[in-house]
Amino acid sequence: MWYIFIVNLNRFFDFIKIKKEEIESFEEFLILSGFGLDFSGNIVKIYKKGGIKDVKNYLLTTLNGSEKDLRIDDISTYLFAGVNGGGKTTSIAKLGNFFKEKGDKVLFIQGDTFRTGANEQLKIWGDRTGIEVFLGKRGDDPGSVIFDGLSYAKNRGYKKIFIDTAGRLSSKKNLMEELKKIKKVIEKNFENVIETILVLDSTEGENLYSQVDKFKETVDITGFFITKIDSTIKPGIMIPIYEKYKIPFLYLSFGEDLKSFEKFDKEKFVNLIFSTYLNG
Ligand code: GDP
Repeated sequence: MWYIFIVNLNRFFDFIKIKKEEIESFEEFLILSGFGLDFSGNIVKIYKKGGIKDVKNYLLTTLNGSEKDLRIDDISTYLFAGVNGGGKTTSIAKLGNFFKEKGDKVLFIQGDTFRTGANEQLKIWGDRTGIEVFLGKRGDDPGSVIFDGLSYAKNRGYKKIFIDTAGRLSSKKNLMEELKKIKKVIEKNFENVIETILVLDSTEGENLYSQVDKFKETVDITGFFITKIDSTIKPGIMIPIYEKYKIPFLYLSFGEDLKSFEKFDKEKFVNLIFSTYLNG
């Protein structure tokens, strides 16, 4: 829960004063926080010219357009993608639970027919949240399980449908092709996928670039769901990632329980990164 305590401390940021002899360790901090060499170099230059306020403005300007509200329609289908272990299923559970508590009819569909235990995992979250889960059998074609799941959802009046997919390692081409096919099956037969969300595990550091590249090649990603911000030492990486791809951030997750997530807020995020500088 540390995340909650640190954020909103805008004052924190303004207090940052770096002595000349500390500039090098500041740059080191930036690189270690995931900003990368170029971006860290820019920040240091800006700091030297205009101080910490200018750095903050630079980061906030870079993040212009990065905050996005989840799109909601009469019937909303949310397709989740991402590598294994990144937090897809947990993020689906969190968001599904949020809508269920607001009174929506929510269905989870397990499109991961590949991984042993995928069904059980989503089922556990379904039981915990009281949300129905539509499952296929292991080895079934994911496209047809999702087709059946969406038909089921339509017949029973579900309004928010969350689709989990196999944690396709982005280097496995056939699995990426499968993701493309899944999206086509949905859009040909049902309402459009309202959001295609790529879950980004913030502890993955520079690996995230190749993940985003591969998924982006395959399907249009409409937003990121950032996970494990409580465990990463490199939260800064999200800023150059936004600068490069201009894909907005929907949510930020900071723990394993259902409530540990919130809408991405760029100012909070920037403060969060720099609070770790002040706190050592
Ligand atoms: P999937 O394979 O992408 O579906 O990943 P899971 O949802 O199964 O999550 C993998 C692991 O990451 C689980 O142990 C989750 O509890 C954990 N996890 C997910 N989100 C977060 C988060 O924001 N913070 C932390 N610390 N752990 C998380």
